[in-house]
Amino acid sequence: PVAEAGLYSQTDQVVVLSSDGIDFQLFNSSNAWLVEFYASWCGHCQRFAPVWKALASDISEWKPAISLAAIDCADNKNRISCAHFEVNRYPTLKFFQAYSESGSKGEVLQDTSSSAPKLRQLIIDLLESHVEAWPPACPPLEPASAAELSDFFKTSSEQYLALVFEEASSYVGREVTMDLLQYEKIAVRRVLRSEEALVSKLGVAHFPSCYLHFPNGTFSRLSVHVEARSFYIYSLRMLPGVERGGYKPIMSLASERNTTADEWRQFDRSRVYMADLESSLYYSLRVEVGTHSTISGEPLSALKAYITVLVKYFPGRPVVMKLLHSLESWLKSHDDPELQYTALEMVLDNEVQTPDAALPDAWRWVSCQGSQPQFRGYPCSLWTLFHLLTVQAAHSTHTPVPDPLEVLQAMLGYIQHFFSCRECAAHFKSMAAETMSRVDSLPRSVLWLWSRHNIVNVRLAGAPSEDPKFPKVLWPPPDLCPQCHGELKGEHFWKMDRILEFLEDYFSPDRILQDYLE
Ligand code: FAD
Repeated sequence: PVAEAGLYSQTDQVVVLSSDGIDFQLFNSSNAWLVEFYASWCGHCQRFAPVWKALASDISEWKPAISLAAIDCADNKNRISCAHFEVNRYPTLKFFQAYSESGSKGEVLQDTSSSAPKLRQLIIDLLESHVEAWPPACPPLEPASAAELSDFFKTSSEQYLALVFEEASSYVGREVTMDLLQYEKIAVRRVLRSEEALVSKLGVAHFPSCYLHFPNGTFSRLSVHVEARSFYIYSLRMLPGVERGGYKPIMSLASERNTTADEWRQFDRSRVYMADLESSLYYSLRVEVGTHSTISGEPLSALKAYITVLVKYFPGRPVVMKLLHSLESWLKSHDDPELQYTALEMVLDNEVQTPDAALPDAWRWVSCQGSQPQFRGYPCSLWTLFHLLTVQAAHSTHTPVPDPLEVLQAMLGYIQHFFSCRECAAHFKSMAAETMSRVDSLPRSVLWLWSRHNIVNVRLAGAPSEDPKFPKVLWPPPDLCPQCHGELKGEHFWKMDRILEFLEDYFSPDRILQDYLE
């Protein structure tokens, strides 16, 4: 039922519908649907598409209760379906309640001129309009009463009940309730200011504000930098024990660690570790490049460009830098159009005997450790390495001043020709094709990679590759960089100058920790 054409693609959180599967998807479904019927040639639809995509990614966690979709009525194969749904102007938004009967035409919504936050509130209203069959995955959205709360832990096995105290007109409590619906060990309810007994018992003076209620009957205020949705979501998801559902039963961290060959290494989540960076060099040069017995043409140029940016910008230990220099000179002197990996391996092993030069001979993940062996590790370290290289290039004293695209192109070349996750490589290549050429300064290259990585984070949140102990978040999260975030009229925004300052500091060589190196 999924097609890729028109204004949306499979990498958006919008479900792309086509005639083949639309009835199957929309009717008798356990979640509600909000569908945009559009024509790809219509200017208003083109202007609306970014809003629809932003909204779908903003509320991607709400999917078990409501999904956003789109169907291109300008595509000939969808023509008859669009006519069945009686759509004759574009774009038209139609709401289908959960368990809508076959043949239902859906409820037309008039407003396609709204912003994503306004539409998000409209979606809450639509969910609340369910009278008969409430979507089973949708938590209760009505305000909680003091009486109900006092009995909450008698029937619930949650570890936390988060209470968002707010005015009746506010949507924050309901939005956060939806944002946490896929998380276990926590429930969220809104409490209105008019619930005076509870408000005065807790001394609530700020609306909205969020309190945690615990099974032992106590309460404590959730400490956040700004009293706003994005800050609540992040803090609540990070509470100890709270995890995204849908994974196998939660085991204690200790028993999970035993499944990995190594001892768990304690680390500081707010720092970069040289052990991860060196491990990414080991893994890329020995494992990934090592699967190519001969290297020639574009892959050979990509390998050379990768080594060049490492030599120029990697702030490695002297012994590692010496090896990288020797590798670079060897590659430069290598004129054959074809290179055998066995020859390259001799340089990696330092059989050319450059004094005091070596690469690590194994990988050792520290801040890239996963709770299970299949999680994190190498891809985590590769992102970290390239972020670091963009920041170092921006600070380099090299003359001439580096080309803003130098590191990004080297990364793209490496990913395209050697990164063993081929699907990742295809995604990254298409992101690069869309916007990378617009990068026209070194700070913008740092920010470009940061923002593309966040697009990947959003897309992968909840995917099977996500480590439940390290959920994908928009990064840096508010506890790492409170000053990077803002919220205006319900819409989260990034403060770009602060982000840049933060990245420069976070990836600066003096802050890289040297623990766990051999
Ligand atoms: P990662 O996303 O790997 O991040 C590593 C570390 O970088 C984080 O711990 C954090 O400290 C920091 N960080 C996070 N976000 C940012 C940011 N925006 N800016 C700067 N630093 C940040 N997997 C797929 O399943 N599908 C894909 O299509 C896919 N594409 C990929 C493309 C590339 C180029 C790479 C390198 C990896 C890709 N992966 C993909 C792997 C995936 O992105 C993660 O690397 C992997 O799931 C491990 O995730 P993680 O939790 O360790 O965090």
